[in-house]
Amino acid sequence: MTRSRCTRCLYWSDHPLGITFDDDGVCSGCRTHIEKTTLDWDARLSMLDSRLGRLLRRRTPDYDCVVPVRGTPEYFYEIEFLTQRLGLRVLAVNYNSQFNSAVGIRNLARLRDRFDLDFMGYTSNPVSYRKLVRESILQFGTVRWPALAGETQLPVRVALERRVPMVIWPFHQPTEMVGTHSYTEEVEMSRASRHSFDLMGVEPGDFVTHRGLVQDYEVEDLLYPGDGELHRSGLVGLYLANYLPWDSRRYAEHAVDELGAIAARNSRTFDTYDRVDDLVYMGLHDLLKVAKYGYGRVTDSLCREIRFGRVDRATAIELEAHFLAEYPRRLLELFGDWIGANEAAVDWIINWEMNGRLFPTDVEWAAQPDDHLSAPARSFIASFMTNADPLVMDSSFTLIGKGLALDE
Ligand SMILES: [Zn+2]
Repeated sequence: MTRSRCTRCLYWSDHPLGITFDDDGVCSGCRTHIEKTTLDWDARLSMLDSRLGRLLRRRTPDYDCVVPVRGTPEYFYEIEFLTQRLGLRVLAVNYNSQFNSAVGIRNLARLRDRFDLDFMGYTSNPVSYRKLVRESILQFGTVRWPALAGETQLPVRVALERRVPMVIWPFHQPTEMVGTHSYTEEVEMSRASRHSFDLMGVEPGDFVTHRGLVQDYEVEDLLYPGDGELHRSGLVGLYLANYLPWDSRRYAEHAVDELGAIAARNSRTFDTYDRVDDLVYMGLHDLLKVAKYGYGRVTDSLCREIRFGRVDRATAIELEAHFLAEYPRRLLELFGDWIGANEAAVDWIINWEMNGRLFPTDVEWAAQPDDHLSAPARSFIASFMTNADPLVMDSSFTLIGKGLALDE
């Protein structure tokens, strides 16, 4: 089947999260996005209020909900909404990706400080984690699997242990990107969606092979709780985007303007709010994503911007080519230092992954100066705020922060 592109946004017909096209060549993601302007969102918020009322009838002594957080601006908005607008007692939970930027660590510190949050962080044994990341690249061609497995199970496990009735996630990624569900379906977090969407069909046990170096005990803290336990607890996993017309960019801008969140330039994208907590996401992760699927994170962000009417398609295509062509040399060096591989080894991994896959061969890998860009493209880039140094100025990954002096 030849690959075709949505006539409205930039997604391809072979999108890994499952996309469909209508007779006009418009993708399911663009169709579902229309609901953000056509649904009665006041009514949907009332639905959330009554749902919460029912869930919180049996009031627990400490928290109303567990909320997974990361060090990016949109979580400030989410926490503000949950604590101020809904008045919920929140336990914020962070699984340490170990790829932290200084911006990410500072954002987490500011988030806790701003909202006087109760906060729980978990860090897997760094030696085992590094081994998992290495195996994940070699066996499954992904660098983020261990982080995804950790961040999708930790909030659930914490909620079960603390007898908290719900976990609130920001949005359901397949719905936001390719419109797998209508918001009216009120899809909830489940083991099945974690398995197929977040973990790409790979489970922790798949890492433990006779020839691999990973032992059973090293993946134990990535396991999702058992179905029986989940069922007995009645725990639910809600996505806030089913009740709010979710707009990551506007929420992040509010957080930077009003709530003290930090935004910074990242590699391979114009989006100064997205994934600024993570020094691997726009580096090796994005290159592997392009190698496997033929599009990058910048494509995701541009699809969102097109759908909200903030950039036209032609400018978006120009921006996509520009950012996909940026080789994130510095981020790859940082990753190489962390995992104990030299630059040649990291290059080898990338090239090995590229062979025979969908990497667009017409993209040249070289940093391109911005002055080749059209005026609309340049002013679009300039419309994203920053209030910190670019991520590439970091000298290493930050494991757990550097103490009180960090947020001087
Ligand atoms: Zn589309």
